[in-house]
Amino acid sequence: MRKKIVAGNWKMNLNLQDGVALAKELNEALAADKPNCDVIICTPFIHLASVAQVLDANVIGLGAENCADKEKGAYTGEVSAEMVKSTGAQYVILGHSERRQYYSETPEILKEKVQLALKNGLKVIFCIGETLEEREANKQNEVVKAELEGSVFNLSEEEFRNIVIAYEPIWAIGTGKTATAEQAEEIHAYIRSIVAEKYGATVADDTTILYGGSCKASNAPELFAKPDIDGGLIGGASLKCADFKGIIDAWK
Ligand code: 13P
Repeated sequence: MRKKIVAGNWKMNLNLQDGVALAKELNEALAADKPNCDVIICTPFIHLASVAQVLDANVIGLGAENCADKEKGAYTGEVSAEMVKSTGAQYVILGHSERRQYYSETPEILKEKVQLALKNGLKVIFCIGETLEEREANKQNEVVKAELEGSVFNLSEEEFRNIVIAYEPIWAIGTGKTATAEQAEEIHAYIRSIVAEKYGATVADDTTILYGGSCKASNAPELFAKPDIDGGLIGGASLKCADFKGIIDAWK
């Protein structure tokens, strides 16, 4: 059976002290009030080692927001999948639309990153999603299919089982505009159907597909009630313990 997950993506927010304090607060809150889903926080690289120390891995998983497309060596400023893993992190977000848009990450680069992450024992939260223009032209299915084919459908079944998919319509990220639960369910069901075509019904049924984009405590219950929405990837609302916990509690 597939896992229900609520994952936070802190993006480029919170200095080290504030990040560690938030992680500690969240760990205490969830240790005292056990969630009905897996909870993961994905932090900037510099936070990982310190945050790992204050998290109980049985309560909250830890992930990075990116990793390099090269194994090691003379790549100034880059952080490898192996380095991420050595901090105690278990996950990495790859393919986020902000990386694709602002840092020109192509499907080929992402394919390399996914391979290296898996090779180093990290699970990948792989993001896909269309722009407003593509949605208005009714191209969303085409776009998400191409993104999966471009970077993860080359994986073996065994490898693919370490992928969590996050559907994040770009027009809903940080805009306050959420996809309606119906819109999200429709494309989540489509995504599951193409995973089934590629890897078979059992793998598709076991694949966690998260929704991301202006998800908050007020709209999470309606989204998570849909059969193909297995949780959320949360940006803004993951930066405060009460807001994030409000979303986690939507599974109760
Ligand atoms: P917001 O929740 O701030 O819209 O961000 C979503 C996101 O991009 C998570 O990866």
